[in-house]
Amino acid sequence: MRLLLIEDDPMVGEAVSVAMRAEGHVIDWVRSREDGDTAVRGHDHDAVLLDLGLPDGDGLALLRSLRARGNHVPVLVITARDALDQRVAGLDAGADDYLLKPFAVDELLARLRALQRRLGGRASERLEIGAVVIETATRQVTVNGDPVTLSAREWAVLEPLVARPGAVLSRAQLEDRLYGWGESVNSNAVEVHIHHLRRKLGSAFIRTVRGVGYMVAGS
Ligand code: CA
Repeated sequence: MRLLLIEDDPMVGEAVSVAMRAEGHVIDWVRSREDGDTAVRGHDHDAVLLDLGLPDGDGLALLRSLRARGNHVPVLVITARDALDQRVAGLDAGADDYLLKPFAVDELLARLRALQRRLGGRASERLEIGAVVIETATRQVTVNGDPVTLSAREWAVLEPLVARPGAVLSRAQLEDRLYGWGESVNSNAVEVHIHHLRRKLGSAFIRTVRGVGYMVAGS
């Protein structure tokens, strides 16, 4: 997933960024309401992690203006405000879920997965495509019943493809899943990961659509 974190607390921001990257997600981190507002306008993120107490304004106001513009990006509010009325206000403003500080990073990851499943309308976490079986929640992959180990970056490339079997994703769209802002892009990275994935999952599992991108066939 490509995530946007709007959070001014350096310790929380650092911990969340490190944990998300370790899971193979790309995370863009901004520290103010204004930068958050610019970031949500400029990029497609799979989800936004939003702190409410920002130095230059209220995260709730940012969320309200986002929804008022018709932006439906999933928003998970992370905040120290534990009063009931604040939680209700957050949900009323259009938050999809809520996480109170301090939280365990594992819980944040689990909530993100739940959010992704809910919004993706995916009933099952188990995908079976030919000889390949993928459990998306645990990232367990088997080929003909034999377990296969994928790196975090290989998973980052594979996940959006298996999330929408039959849909073609461009190299640029897959690069978006590998790199955050300011990270230098290795022009071969997507090809290299696809090459490794094909070696592990079978050469026909990911198809090249010439001039367009890559796709995983439906089951
Ligand atoms: Ca804050």
